[in-house]
Amino acid sequence: MLKAKGYAAATATSSLAPFSFDRRDPLDHDVLIDIKYCGICHSDIHSARDEWGGSLFPMVPGHEIAGVVTAVGRAVTRYKVGDAVGVGCFVDSCRKCAPCRAGLEQFCAEGPTLTYSGIERDGKTPTQGGYSDKIVVNEDYVLRIPGNLALDAAAPLLCAGITLYSPLKHWQAGPGKNVAIIGLGGLGHMGVKIAHALGAEVTVLSQSLAKRDDGLRLGADNYYATSDPATFKTLKGSFDLIVNTVSAPMDWNQYLSLLAVDGTMVLVGAPPAPVPVAAFSLISNRRSLAGSLIGGMRETQEMLDFCGSHNLACDIEVIPIQKVNEAYERVLKSDVRYRFVIDMASLKTS
Ligand code: NAP
Ligand code: ZN
Ligand code: ZN
Repeated sequence: MLKAKGYAAATATSSLAPFSFDRRDPLDHDVLIDIKYCGICHSDIHSARDEWGGSLFPMVPGHEIAGVVTAVGRAVTRYKVGDAVGVGCFVDSCRKCAPCRAGLEQFCAEGPTLTYSGIERDGKTPTQGGYSDKIVVNEDYVLRIPGNLALDAAAPLLCAGITLYSPLKHWQAGPGKNVAIIGLGGLGHMGVKIAHALGAEVTVLSQSLAKRDDGLRLGADNYYATSDPATFKTLKGSFDLIVNTVSAPMDWNQYLSLLAVDGTMVLVGAPPAPVPVAAFSLISNRRSLAGSLIGGMRETQEMLDFCGSHNLACDIEVIPIQKVNEAYERVLKSDVRYRFVIDMASLKTS
C-alpha cells in the first residue's frame, strides 16, 4: 500500500483536518498521479456536510483533480510518467451496462464509483478524493489535460467545466441560440465562457449586479439582477435554454416564465429540498424542465480538448490546504471569484 496524506471530514459536523490513509499500489491498468491542484466544488460542501444523505466518513473530498503521472501499471497504454492528467467525479463504473457502453458512465446502471464518498469495485474499499497528495486510478478513468492549460486553472474543468459543457452541447447552445446561466459561481462562470465560445448569445442571471463587469469580461452579452422584479418582465419568454446552477431554494416557476416556445431549463445545481413546479409553467410555451449530471469520459475529454483549443480555463483563487475550511464558508456566501483551487504543495507543511 502507498501512504497518502490529505484533509478529511471525520463526520458531517466536523471541519476538515489533516488525515493519513493508504492508497493501493498501482494494479496493471492503474496510473499513480501526484496531485498538484484540486478545485473546491460546492458538491464537496454538500457531501462533507451530508446534505444529500448517504455520505461516507472519514471523507477526503475533491473531484476536480489535476496532477502528473508518476508511475503506471505494466498494462497501461494510454499514459506515461510525466503526463499532465485529470480525474473528475468518478474513478470507475461497471463498463457493461447500456449507459457505460454509450460513454455515459455518469449514468452507470450500477452507479459510477464516485471519486470520494464511494466504494471501489472490490465492494469494500472506501474511495478518497483529491484533497490529498496522490491518487491511483484505472487508466480508462483518467483524462489528458492539454499542454497549453495551466494545471491550477484546468483543475475545475474536471467538474465545473464538464457539468456546463455537457448540457450546453446536448441542448445545442450555439449561434442563434439565446442562453441564460443562473448563478455566476464556479459552474456558472464556466457556463458563460463555454456558451460564448460555442457562439450562443449569453445572459447572466445573478442575484445582484455586483459581478456584472466580470460577467461581461467572461463573455456574457447581457447581465441582469434577479433581485430586480423588472428583470422577469423584461426577459419573459426570451430564452431557448437556461442552465440553472443554483443550489439554494428558489422559485423555478418564475425562471421557467423566461423560456421561449420549446425552451428548456436544465438543472445542474442540486438543492437538497424538492421545489414545487406549476403545470402551467411547463404547458405554456411547451417548455421543458430537465437535469444534467457532469459528463461521460469521452465527452469530458472532448471538453478538455475544446478548452485547450479555445485557450479557456477557470478563473481561480489558489489557496493552501490550511485555508480549506475558510474557503468553504466563503463559497457559501458566494464570495469566490470564481473557483477556489487548493495548491497541494501546501500539504507538506501540514
Ligand atoms: P457556487 O460556486 O457556490 O455557485 C453557485 C451560485 O449560485 C453562486 O455563485 C450564486 O451566484 C448563486 N446563488 C447562491 N445562493 C443563491 C440563492 N440563495 N439564490 C439565488 N442564487 C444563489 O457553486 P458551484 O460549485 O457552482 O455548484 C452549484 C451547484 O451545482 C451545487 O449545488 C453543486 O452541488 C451542484 N453541482 C452539480 C453538478 C452536476 O453534475 N449536476 C456538478 C457540480 C456541482 P450569484 O452570486 O451570481 O447569484
Ligand atoms: Zn463537482
Ligand atoms: Zn455501467
